Amino acid sequence: MLLTSGRKLRLFQDSDPYKQWCTLDETRFCARRKHLFLGRDVRVLEDERGKIHFRCLTFCCEGGFADWQCPQFHL
Ligand SMILES: [Zn+2]
Repeated sequence: MLLTSGRKLRLFQDSDPYKQWCTLDETRFCARRKHLFLGRDVRVLEDERGKIHFRCLTFCCEGGFADWQCPQFHL
């Protein structure tokens, strides 16, 4: 799914029930596989019913918004 940065950021803001996103350059910590990443690296997938899914860029990580924490607790 191809997205401009502005549209991707807006999708994050609309879809993330846990955190606020100000920019796609924000860092998050994925609790599932213990890694850091940037918002812009998140994969945005659309399924056949048009539902949007957000996944870690990291191979095989099924992390989503519920797993992504603000990294200051881990530095
Ligand atoms: Zn992850």
